[in-house]
Amino acid sequence: MGVNIEKVFGENVFDDAVMKVRLPKSDYETVKKLMYEGGEITEDLADVVAQAMKEWALEKGATHFTHVFQPYVISVGAEKHDSFASVPIDGKIENTFTGKDLLMGEPDASSFPSGGLRATCGARGYTAWDITSPVYVKEDTLCIPTAFCSYTGESLDTKTPLLKAMHAVSKQGVRLMRLFGDQDTKRIFSYVGPEQEYFLVDREKYLKRPDLMYSGRTLFGAMPPKGQEMDDHYFGAIKPRVKAFMEDINVQLWKLGITAKTEHNEVAPAQHEIAPIFSISNVALDNNLLVMDVLKKTATKHGLVCLLHEKPFDGINGSGKHNNWSLTTDDGINLFKPGKKPEENKLFQLVLACTMAAVDRHAVLLRLAASNTGNDHRLGANEAPPAIISMYLGDQVGDIVEQILKNGKATSSLSSGTLEFGIKKLPVLEKDPTDRNRTSPFAFTGNRFEFRMVASSNSIGDTNTVLNAMMAEAFSEACDALEGAADFDKAVEEYTAKLMKEHARIVFNGNGYSEEWPIEAEKRGLPNCRSIVDAIPALVDDTTVAMYEKFNILSKAELEARKEILFEQYAGVRNIEALTMVEMSNRIIMPAVTKYTKDLADTVIAVKEAGADASVQAGLLGEISAKLAETKKATTALAEIVEEAKAKDDSKAIAISYKDDVMAAMAALRKPVDELEVIMPKEVWPMPTYGDLVYEI
Ligand code: ADP
Ligand code: MG
Repeated sequence: MGVNIEKVFGENVFDDAVMKVRLPKSDYETVKKLMYEGGEITEDLADVVAQAMKEWALEKGATHFTHVFQPYVISVGAEKHDSFASVPIDGKIENTFTGKDLLMGEPDASSFPSGGLRATCGARGYTAWDITSPVYVKEDTLCIPTAFCSYTGESLDTKTPLLKAMHAVSKQGVRLMRLFGDQDTKRIFSYVGPEQEYFLVDREKYLKRPDLMYSGRTLFGAMPPKGQEMDDHYFGAIKPRVKAFMEDINVQLWKLGITAKTEHNEVAPAQHEIAPIFSISNVALDNNLLVMDVLKKTATKHGLVCLLHEKPFDGINGSGKHNNWSLTTDDGINLFKPGKKPEENKLFQLVLACTMAAVDRHAVLLRLAASNTGNDHRLGANEAPPAIISMYLGDQVGDIVEQILKNGKATSSLSSGTLEFGIKKLPVLEKDPTDRNRTSPFAFTGNRFEFRMVASSNSIGDTNTVLNAMMAEAFSEACDALEGAADFDKAVEEYTAKLMKEHARIVFNGNGYSEEWPIEAEKRGLPNCRSIVDAIPALVDDTTVAMYEKFNILSKAELEARKEILFEQYAGVRNIEALTMVEMSNRIIMPAVTKYTKDLADTVIAVKEAGADASVQAGLLGEISAKLAETKKATTALAEIVEEAKAKDDSKAIAISYKDDVMAAMAALRKPVDELEVIMPKEVWPMPTYGDLVYEI
């Protein structure tokens, strides 16, 4: 309570202020330059920095250090802690941390998915310090953000490709700025503000649900009489226990230099959101992983569990991550800002046309980057954007595009205007130039795009790799077409109009949740991948490989490996879910129901003996026994179907079988169990219900 943000912010970060005080002036200048411009740091300088870091970390109570990295598709930061202890000499040890320790680590890579990139016998993997993302102390450990690759140099993480894509978009963006006569811009930054949704449930109850424990989502559970239909949770008053939790995470995040800014209840009961202020993409990625980590650990401290799964409860809205993304020059020109006169802003119009082209071309890749197994339960359901990628531009920018499509150029723009409440005491507000469209996966929000599809538990690495790579490609093509044009103004206008015409189908300003949209989208030829499994092959499409190879972001071999990993990951997750259902059915649900049928049978006999009418009791016994039989049958079937799925030929066939056959068998088992839940007495039902989980915290 009562923490002063100014005082605690960045307390645990080896940030600029700390470096300035602790490094010799010239070393400080060099490190700053490297942080800003990239480049190689000498081992001598790394030694100096490491020494300063160690002393600072020791003062913070650290005993260990670790390189933090993000193995591909595992969306928690991996850490291998080493203590500062040196080799003892005469029984004495010293705290050591060298430049080499800082620069490079060698975690055993063999336990992480490599998709066949790494021979089983070759286990080496390397981590390299990402000098552009700040080092921090967490608990007793000095944490160094890194990139992670194999012995042979292939990237095994989500960070390396992102850094490369950021570099590519910067380089091509600068080219574009030069075309428009800007000689000063040296870099283009890609910024991200990820809004993170999550659920909180009581830990005691969670521990009674193996499905939540093993798979992060409930695999059984009937809807309570009250869901979210009253819309009374969204932005509602925050419960004291949740408020205490939020205060705790805010302070920890501030200390870690993360600008925890917005917090509120979300649409579903027990669902909440936290958003930091946007930052440079790779830092946003590291920070978001830290946010997820702090959320989970702090929940435990408060007797709660934080669920980051995309769909913890069937029938109740799930969680996503809104990836607010923009491109800005180093001197502060936001390329997505229409400005006061968007009709005259040719740079903005060209960037917009490039974005339309990029999104349209790489729609499936974008969809994939926002996907994981859990998100399959959200995308396309009426709570999250549909699985079809389209862009929402809003009135003002939408109108600019309309004019260009019609006349080849725009000559006027709709003003946003003001909003008057009609009450003197309330201020007149200047309106945003766009309204919100919650149903669009890719919405223009005035000075950025909000990609609303991203999975809540995923790393944002992939998403932003695609976003920046596809823009690098579109910028590069625009520059190729326009550099050397005799009449630049005319050429830009024509090129912009041409791109917009070719990719107009990607713009959709209507209701993405409506039944008509998928039909209309199909007419437009827009892809609709219902499952991540359908989208995975896009990783190795010619268009994808060409883009990634052109900018040295990922090679064909790396993409092939990632494809493998994703298929395996999908099957792996569904396998855990299926086995958990079988186990819960056999060992928790059927025993409880069996026991209850015995009680009912005894009751029937007793009531009959007492000479009364036992038909209701007998009827109930019949109904429950029939559903128990159905449960038993479905359990056996599910176990068998899992074996069949596993035995398929290759990773793709296995994933497809899990998606179609295993999922159908899971649904067939869930049905009788959920029906039993609502006709059985609450006290004999062997686990907390949805109502217990989402309302009682
Ligand atoms: P809303 O819920 O209205 O979309 P929030 O305030 O919850 O808005 O989150 C918006 C996110 O977008 C924040 O993280 C914010 O810092 C970020 N953001 C704002 N401007 C930009 C920008 N130019 N580029 C990237 N992200 C931005
Ligand atoms: Mg938002």
